[in-house]
Amino acid sequence: MRTLFRDVRIFDGIQLIAQHGAVLVDGNRIARVADSADALDGEQADTVIEGAGRTLMPGMVESHAHLTWASSVEKIYHQFILPPEELKVAAWRNARVLLDHGFTSAYSAGALGDHIEPELAAAIDAGETPGPRLIPSTLERSPEGAEGVETGDVFNGRGPDAIRQFVSYCKDSGVRSLKLVISGEDALKPGSAKDVLYTDEEMEAAGAAAREAGLWIATHAYYPKAIELALKAGARIIYHASYADQAAMDQMVAARDSTFYAPSPGVSVATLEATPPPHIDMSHMKASATERMALESKVVPALKARGVKILIGGDYGFPFNPNGRNARDLQIFVEHFGYAPAEALSAATKLGGELMGLDVGQVKEGFLADLLLVDGDPTADVAILQDKDKLAAIMKDGALYKAPVA
Ligand SMILES: [Zn+2]
Repeated sequence: MRTLFRDVRIFDGIQLIAQHGAVLVDGNRIARVADSADALDGEQADTVIEGAGRTLMPGMVESHAHLTWASSVEKIYHQFILPPEELKVAAWRNARVLLDHGFTSAYSAGALGDHIEPELAAAIDAGETPGPRLIPSTLERSPEGAEGVETGDVFNGRGPDAIRQFVSYCKDSGVRSLKLVISGEDALKPGSAKDVLYTDEEMEAAGAAAREAGLWIATHAYYPKAIELALKAGARIIYHASYADQAAMDQMVAARDSTFYAPSPGVSVATLEATPPPHIDMSHMKASATERMALESKVVPALKARGVKILIGGDYGFPFNPNGRNARDLQIFVEHFGYAPAEALSAATKLGGELMGLDVGQVKEGFLADLLLVDGDPTADVAILQDKDKLAAIMKDGALYKAPVA
């Protein structure tokens, strides 16, 4: 199966490389990338898509996905914990909603159940249900007795042995990334973000066991000590890091080749905008969000300038921040963190692809064909990516999930 995109503006994951280019997809890979509209016209193709100057770009990567946080732009849930059958319906729906909105890859930041994401990832891979390529995770783990974060009750005992048990349990479950909640969470328990929930020994054990098991570690970390522990464990990704000081930033820079960073501003901005009914008090959440956005507005540009790989992903899945709105992070990066549009796009594509550890996130010969045909120019205005009607075509793994209207 070969698909030719003709006359497309091409954003390759780093920059605009053609105003009127062409891209040939053969099987599930990008076979040719050319910088003139007709350069590939001699190639055989089963399907020819006329871009007419629309933009072809890599599919986006959500680096902080919570597909089991039930709310989406299609259906809002007001309770956080759902019965298992309903949870599964919501997670399957959310995977499809992310793909509908241009996300062809997602890295899970934790699930509200242990087996649901490995099962979902397998169903997506088998073509049984639509969704992004998914790095599945399990329950977000914080140690027994630690407050402030909702967790499950499996293997959350104290000490290195309990951590090792948790890691081997995750491996057996088919999880690919574990989620360790190292800091508390102010939004749930005011003042707890500076709490450090793990010991040095526990985090070292986590790092060693995960490496041995071939699993990645994703971490919820706000303050310098928590960031230090995440790095010591060799975390694949650090979320938030809002209160990083100079020393913590230096450590993140030193680890920039192996540890990604996702500040996750989407949830903060949505918290500030939320207008909850009178019986729901969001005042401390709003205060925390104000503080975090102010801090991240300094931390993110400083780390970006020093080469840290910073990704989009914003804790979507709350009623006030539903799944499907994920592309909003790009606009927030531009408006709050000083990103040029192409830099925000690159965070959502090329850098996200590196996080996935797959040949995705670039329009490049040999890469997997995860592509979006966008009606408009996202390098001029990233906000258009929030409108799924502007996604004229969505291709994943060489197959057109959404084809242009002829
Ligand atoms: Zn999260």
